[in-house]
Amino acid sequence: RSKRRGRGQITVYSREIAQEMKRATQLEQALRNAIISDAIDVHFQPIVSLSNNQVVGFEALARWNDPDLGFVSPGVFVPLAEERGFIDALSEALLRKAAEAALSWPRELFLSFNLSSAQLMDPGTSGSVLSILGRVGFDPHRLELEITETAVMSSADTAHRIIADLRAAGVRISLDDFGTGQSSLGRLRDFIFDKIKIDRAFVSRINSDRASEHIIKAILTMCDGLELEVVAEGIEDYAEAVKLRTLGCGMGQGYHFGRPADGIATLRFLHENYYDPAMAERASA
Ligand code: C2E
Ligand code: MG
Ligand code: MG
Ligand code: MG
Repeated sequence: RSKRRGRGQITVYSREIAQEMKRATQLEQALRNAIISDAIDVHFQPIVSLSNNQVVGFEALARWNDPDLGFVSPGVFVPLAEERGFIDALSEALLRKAAEAALSWPRELFLSFNLSSAQLMDPGTSGSVLSILGRVGFDPHRLELEITETAVMSSADTAHRIIADLRAAGVRISLDDFGTGQSSLGRLRDFIFDKIKIDRAFVSRINSDRASEHIIKAILTMCDGLELEVVAEGIEDYAEAVKLRTLGCGMGQGYHFGRPADGIATLRFLHENYYDPAMAERASA
């Protein structure tokens, strides 16, 4: 009897595994098609100066809405693209689209773009990024690349060379999701970053948890000494924004200031929210 149950279980498991594998294959096939047909879009989320709420740049975020699968999170398809070797094609298409869209923004604003860890292991990445910018006509000084600590550590020499080449061309580097995962303060001693982005995990608890407030204070003090700019990620309400500004955090990003939106909605957002000093000067002349 127990033998039969045992065999039954094996059947059930293998059927589940088979279904799981089928889903994974479908997702992979759909992703491959989406990349080939250029169906993955890029949205933009504002990053603001906390001292005056003025937008200073936008982060590009990949968006895929598949006709069959529906909305698939970049948290799912970006790792899959890395695993299956599609990340270069995907990332190049996204950077091109993002930079093209950013050409219509006031030129004081920067574009922040996420690089995946696989790209930091590939020595061709710096050349590919700069050639895309060249073709689009987007100034490298207006580009920031967001990377995570895990990505820098996984292939340290190659990653450092890529970062050095990009910085030499004027691209700025931010450390994304700071405070999570395999964080190591030692990385900051390498001076390869221009900016750090404090992870939402701390920001969302800043007014309810003393520990998070102390951690953010310490990060701000440290970044001040190291001359690193700071962005707080995932600011969802007014109280969080006020608290971070009071603590001296320079920049913020989150639903409170604006959700990721497509290129056209982003232009509308700028039209409604951006105070352009050059335009104001022309108007008063
Ligand atoms: P990330 O770079 O840390 O991006 C921030 C994530 O937080 C985004 O999720 C954004 O939509 C979300 N977010 C922003 N403000 C708030 C807020 O106030 N509250 C909450 N709850 N969430 C907020 P998203 O778009 O789902 O992206 C997830 C991750 O996928 C990104 O994390 C990034 O690591 C990766 N990713 C997205 N687009 C790209 C891309 O083009 N290339 C690469 N390599 N990775 C990407
Ligand atoms: Mg990011
Ligand atoms: Mg982040
Ligand atoms: Mg993240």
